[in-house]
Amino acid sequence: MVLEKYKQKRNFTSTPEPSGDVKLAAERAKHEPRKGLFFCVQKHLASHLHYDFRLEYKGVLLSWAVPKGPSLDPKTKRLAMHVEDHPIEYGTFEGVIPSGYGAGIVMLWDQGTWTPESEDVDAALKKGDLKFTLDGYKLKGSWVIVRTGGRWGSDDGRSWLLIKHRDNWAGELDITEFAPNSVKSEGDFEDILAADNPDVWESHRPAEGGEAGAMLKKIIERAAALKAGKPLAAAAPAPKKRAATTKTAKSTKTAKAAKAAKKAATPRKKASTKAKS
Ligand code: MN
Repeated sequence: MVLEKYKQKRNFTSTPEPSGDVKLAAERAKHEPRKGLFFCVQKHLASHLHYDFRLEYKGVLLSWAVPKGPSLDPKTKRLAMHVEDHPIEYGTFEGVIPSGYGAGIVMLWDQGTWTPESEDVDAALKKGDLKFTLDGYKLKGSWVIVRTGGRWGSDDGRSWLLIKHRDNWAGELDITEFAPNSVKSEGDFEDILAADNPDVWESHRPAEGGEAGAMLKKIIERAAALKAGKPLAAAAPAPKKRAATTKTAKSTKTAKAAKAAKKAATPRKKASTKAKS
């Protein structure tokens, strides 16, 4: 059954996540990969902060959880844990998962199209070496995702590495830090939470301790302040509000423009955005 694992993990009466439309999946499965398929990256603050990297293929979204997020630097290989396929409609989802599997906040961090560079996608996936081109707001150019073959122990081959190829879209810019916000709502986690219900986690927080817990605590406070209409500065001295809009990232010289903008930007602490996987 398509999306079996995805459905097993969720109770659709208590999560706002899509349950997966079978007809839509069948329709999308007819799309010719060479014409470009959907891809997205969802920033997900759950028990740990991570970035869910998703490539549409055969009507579903192949998915990997990338703890540190994508890097534009070819030297920085990012661990990507293969997870269950997600429904195609999941690709534009943004919101709060109040409880259960994946409880937390989901932000649509990037979206666009991908085209395979590998001749045969099935063979490439089987081999564990898929080369592709991304055309998103933040991520562009040539990439590869490679299975590591469980080099670090028995992980059932779930460990892959997401790596940027050297091209005009590569650079040393920390894209997750430079462009932290949503490409859908342009907001940050607290905006998404404030649009929903910041009281939702008063008793059941998805992350209690550690960096993710501390980050969530701040986000809840800021969301509550936003909701109450208080000026944000009163809740947190964060200069990063909409530091990078999608318009900036859309520019044809992302890396260069971003570097210049970054120089001009107020330096800020790395805070707790670097939660471990
Ligand atoms: Mn996730």
